[in-house]
Amino acid sequence: MNETVIEPILHETKTRAAVQPLVADIQNFAQDVFDTVREPLLVLDAALRVRSANSAFYQTFHVSAAETESRQIYELGNGQWGVTALRTLLEDIVPESTVFNDFELEHDFPHIGRRVMLLNARKLHDELVLLAMEDVTEKRRAQHLLEQIEAYAQDVVDTVREPLLILDSSLRVHSANGAFYQTFHVSAEETENQLIYELGNGQWDIPDLRTLLEDIVPTSSVFNDFELEHDFPHIGRRVMLLNDLEAMAWSIPVLREAEVHVLQEGVAMRGGNIALIAAGTGMGQALLHWVDDRFVPSPSEAGHADFAARTEREITLVRDLTARCGRADVEHVVSGRGFLNLHRVAHREPCRAGIDLDAPDAPALISAAALERRCPGCVETLDMFVDAYGAEAGNLALRTVSTGGLFVGGGIAPKILPAMTTGTFMRAFLAKPPLDAMVAKMPVKIILNAQAGLLGAAVFAAGQR
Ligand SMILES: [Zn+2]
Repeated sequence: MNETVIEPILHETKTRAAVQPLVADIQNFAQDVFDTVREPLLVLDAALRVRSANSAFYQTFHVSAAETESRQIYELGNGQWGVTALRTLLEDIVPESTVFNDFELEHDFPHIGRRVMLLNARKLHDELVLLAMEDVTEKRRAQHLLEQIEAYAQDVVDTVREPLLILDSSLRVHSANGAFYQTFHVSAEETENQLIYELGNGQWDIPDLRTLLEDIVPTSSVFNDFELEHDFPHIGRRVMLLNDLEAMAWSIPVLREAEVHVLQEGVAMRGGNIALIAAGTGMGQALLHWVDDRFVPSPSEAGHADFAARTEREITLVRDLTARCGRADVEHVVSGRGFLNLHRVAHREPCRAGIDLDAPDAPALISAAALERRCPGCVETLDMFVDAYGAEAGNLALRTVSTGGLFVGGGIAPKILPAMTTGTFMRAFLAKPPLDAMVAKMPVKIILNAQAGLLGAAVFAAGQR
């Protein structure tokens, strides 16, 4: 009988001795993890006294170990953790269950001011509770702002009483709002992608508007307060936003992660300039300055600046463009139309995809043939396009010192994403010695949201109130 009692004890002792170093290792490892985690952590015992805190806790709350250890959590600081809701959680919920997640504590903390902390608790074993806190103040603030802007964007887009049209540079309708459809009794199918003059039964084919759109808009990127006086059936005054690029620029500060494709993570410098390059029907570039706590875009006519050739094949291209067009500007190369110019010089033999360069969708046909590798000349065309796009984006980055990030907008990039992400674009972007180290630090992102222009128009409108 004695044996049966003694034996298990001996056995247990032996086992304990054998695992002792392992336990010590695990404890050391746990302590290291505990100390190096960037979120403040507290280990509480069953009486909710602080068993230990990590350095992030001491740093965040500007307190010492002496002020913290062995104290009851509610006594810490000036009782800042004594909030009723947190009491309930720690005293009622934790004893019952082993975790609680994402409890939001908003509080005026001594030294650090009003903060929003996200608290998560884990019961380590029956005796100890690990309390982790994440400072989400900035995140909440940004989220709140974004929600406000989004709510406003929705408001502008859906319920603004004035008809709103966004046109691309070929004067086709990029998008319209609900008020537009209601006012003019037309559907989205009848409106989107239509030339403005073709809308309705040609009711927008007005001489004054034609002059404005065809003569004034192409030479200046923005016009404001243009009021169209015209006898429309049913309607009066309208608001028109015509510069898609500027509208798109306004959207950049509120774009979400899922709305961009990251080509280079980089490090965005706070208050650093942001640059936008956008190849679509034409080529647009804009610069965003940080003014009075927000980004304000400045338009440019950089699409009509000279195209800078860097390679033999680009020199051939410049020769061809100069002979045919008088000069080679960036838009001759990096735009929908650019595909046609590149297609000419990239084919040494007839196009195997049989593309008709006069077809209205020729640029899309060329990039499709290239992505499907149906014609070596079309593959070369797309490669030249992406290469030149990256180089011009790099030029813009240098000209604007866009340490806040460079964004690639416009309709083309999302459509040829597989070609934009092969490395050709970024190689050309980065090849800017002696300043290659500077451009290597800039975030570079492709805007995927096709409605970025509309979103930006809403942001702009929100700021005008
Ligand atoms: Zn081809």
